[in-house]
Amino acid sequence: MKNEMTLAFDSLSENEGFARVAVAAFVTRLNPTLEEVADIRTAVSEAVTNAIIHGYPDGVHTVVVRAVLHEETVELWITDEGVGMEDVKQAMEPLYTSRPELERSGMGFMFMEAFMDQVEVQSSPGVGTTVYMKKRIKQDAAGQED
Ligand code: ATP
Ligand code: MG
Repeated sequence: MKNEMTLAFDSLSENEGFARVAVAAFVTRLNPTLEEVADIRTAVSEAVTNAIIHGYPDGVHTVVVRAVLHEETVELWITDEGVGMEDVKQAMEPLYTSRPELERSGMGFMFMEAFMDQVEVQSSPGVGTTVYMKKRIKQDAAGQED
């Protein structure tokens, strides 16, 4: 059975931790392994941080995280209505960053792609960005009491 949730929160860096923990807690329903939870936490953290830092460089606006659980899969959408990207392909290249002065290292998309099974980015300049990610949860072999 499908199970869905949506979080909308201010683009403050302190809310990155909240989003990461909230998604991890929601995904617990699928009995993920600790490693799978860690992977999802990292991917959410990177996408939300990008929305906050890059999507909304000026002022505080809304970041939306939507999660859908299926029987063995989690789908995530992280959306900002911020500046968007001119060239998504370039932005996703390993080690590419538009903000080296902020000591960014261009690793965010690398982590998302390493830790999730699928990562798709839709972005338009002046409209905003949605990062879609999907991961299959193989389930803890030992199971988990409920
Ligand atoms: P790091 O994640 O290592 O701190 P980074 O954020 O620059 O560095 P990535 O997360 O891989 O690296 O993102 C690469 C680039 O893509 C960013 O520098 C930025 O130009 C662009 N980008 C990513 N997410 C967004 C977004 N939500 N809105 C606008 N631009 C974005
Ligand atoms: Mg980043």
